Amino acid sequence: MPRTSRPQSYYDDIKTKFKEERDKRLNYRPPGTAQYTSELTGDLAKYSTDPWQIQAPEREPINDQVEVLFIGGGFSALLTSGRLHERGIENIRIVERGSDVGGTWYWNRYPGAACDVVSYDYLPLLDEMDYVPVNHYSRGPEIFSHCQAIARKYNLYDLAVFSTTVTETVWNEEEKLWHVKTDRGDDMRARFVICANGTLAKPKLSLIEGMNKFKGHAFHSSRWDYEYTGAHLEHLKDKRVGIIGTGASAVQIVPELGKTAKSLTVFQRTPSSIDVRDDWPTDPNWARRLQPGWQAKRREKTLAAVEMSPEKRAELDALTPEEKIRRQENSNINHMMRIHKRIDEIVEDKATAEALKPWYMFMCKRPCFHNEYLPTFNLPNVTLVDTKGKGITEIGERGPIFDGVEHELDLLVYATGFEVQLTGIYNSIIGAGGQNLQDKYADGIRTLLGIHTAGFPNLFIMGGYQASFQFNLTDMLQTQGDHIAACIDHVRTHGYQTIDATDAAEEWWVQEVIHHRGKTSRSEDCTPGYYNFEGAENRRQDGNYNGGFRKYFQHQGEVRSDMAHFFHLGKATAEGL
Ligand code: NDP
Repeated sequence: MPRTSRPQSYYDDIKTKFKEERDKRLNYRPPGTAQYTSELTGDLAKYSTDPWQIQAPEREPINDQVEVLFIGGGFSALLTSGRLHERGIENIRIVERGSDVGGTWYWNRYPGAACDVVSYDYLPLLDEMDYVPVNHYSRGPEIFSHCQAIARKYNLYDLAVFSTTVTETVWNEEEKLWHVKTDRGDDMRARFVICANGTLAKPKLSLIEGMNKFKGHAFHSSRWDYEYTGAHLEHLKDKRVGIIGTGASAVQIVPELGKTAKSLTVFQRTPSSIDVRDDWPTDPNWARRLQPGWQAKRREKTLAAVEMSPEKRAELDALTPEEKIRRQENSNINHMMRIHKRIDEIVEDKATAEALKPWYMFMCKRPCFHNEYLPTFNLPNVTLVDTKGKGITEIGERGPIFDGVEHELDLLVYATGFEVQLTGIYNSIIGAGGQNLQDKYADGIRTLLGIHTAGFPNLFIMGGYQASFQFNLTDMLQTQGDHIAACIDHVRTHGYQTIDATDAAEEWWVQEVIHHRGKTSRSEDCTPGYYNFEGAENRRQDGNYNGGFRKYFQHQGEVRSDMAHFFHLGKATAEGL
């Protein structure tokens, strides 16, 4: 942590400004998460329609049994399947709402879509797939192709059903099977069900008065309408385009629209922090020299790099808690002021530069990395409408209205994000004794490791709350996939039929989550966003496990090393499995 020579008053003034900006934003939008809707039905249904599968193919309802059924066909399912295959479990079905595997990368095909986690860390199963990404940062199409290649390698297409939404997942105690019902009339049975529905899967819209009045064309960023824009956005050269939102999706979309549209208006509520994106093509000589196991080693090194040395840790431990927090905050502010300086260096118009400056601590919102986003605001056809924390609250026939001005548009893109980490989106999950998972969670989320929840035998959750958050999500999901595959293997090889977390194990984990969340007030101090439930108060157990990724990983190992302690393991019937 660098020491600085600035007086403490400099940092205190900035903290006061952070607080003012946060309060301003909160005061405009009291309803917290209720300002959004992800119930995209009726007039809003068009915002969730799958543009890649206009007409779902006809098929007969399925009524069969598989060993493992994944709800969702994104990375969670793909990389867990790899591990299941290694353990000889091949009777695997993916049930997916989209018409292919890929999850996020199936849906998000907007122009400029790319991953800003380094590709060699982010793209999973690189060793197994004998694949080295083309660039330091992968573009969306490469990631989507990688997903398809994994599905082919592990024969996941054979049993998969696409354009199918799971509506009900019900535990049958006598059969010791899950019954999975869908919107296509299916009633499939599965020994094990894995909720692999993603962390940010269900598009949401800001509820804005008059949305349906707008006479132009409109869609959500994750449902890009290339028929309207043209494959290379060539149809936009005579179009006035607007975009609501300036989160990670918009940051990637805006440069592409700026280059192609007749005019682009960006409606901003809170600016993102934009840092350098250091990209380069993969060096073929480096790729050739990679040894088996290289990705796991690399991920390990990446994790170690952000960990503190024992000396640093000792130095920090010697400080009072107040001094520790003061130093962390000052260092965070230094980083944010570097982000501000970069904006001043790039954005020519002073007022626009000021408006693009994020006034909150680093990591209050998801940090963004892009080299073209800020320069886009120097283009003559691009305008920033800074709503100064208020947001767009009204849309007229011609376009969004702000400060009494109706901004006339032909196309309006909603880059307003996704519902966060819901287990069982679109789907009602009913466990032993008829208990609904959402009812169980009504008084607070209760899980073991964020993966198991008592009373829901043979059900596993991926990417949900109470798991560790990792910037490289696929690394975290891989540990969950490894853990789940090991649990299923344990049940099968030891002649058990069911695995269900004990109440005591669940209580232990809930207390772990609460204990680690209790350490920080960052969430309340931050500007609202999906990281902190839009600034609403929430129960301390309803969030991620903040004890660190390594600790999370260690806890997974502890649980696996003493299964009988953490789980009720039900014996198989005479017929076996
Ligand atoms: P976000 O939820 O991050 O952003 C939504 C945006 O909409 C915010 O800027 C929000 O403003 C704005 N907004 C909402 N309502 C209004 C309104 N009424 N008026 C004006 N603005 C409004 O969604 P994204 O789709 O951008 O990103 C979601 C997540 O997807 C990312 O955080 C990231 O985790 C992931 N992602 C990952 C990528 C990767 O490289 N791996 C790339 C792209 C996305 P406010 O901030 O004020 O709430």
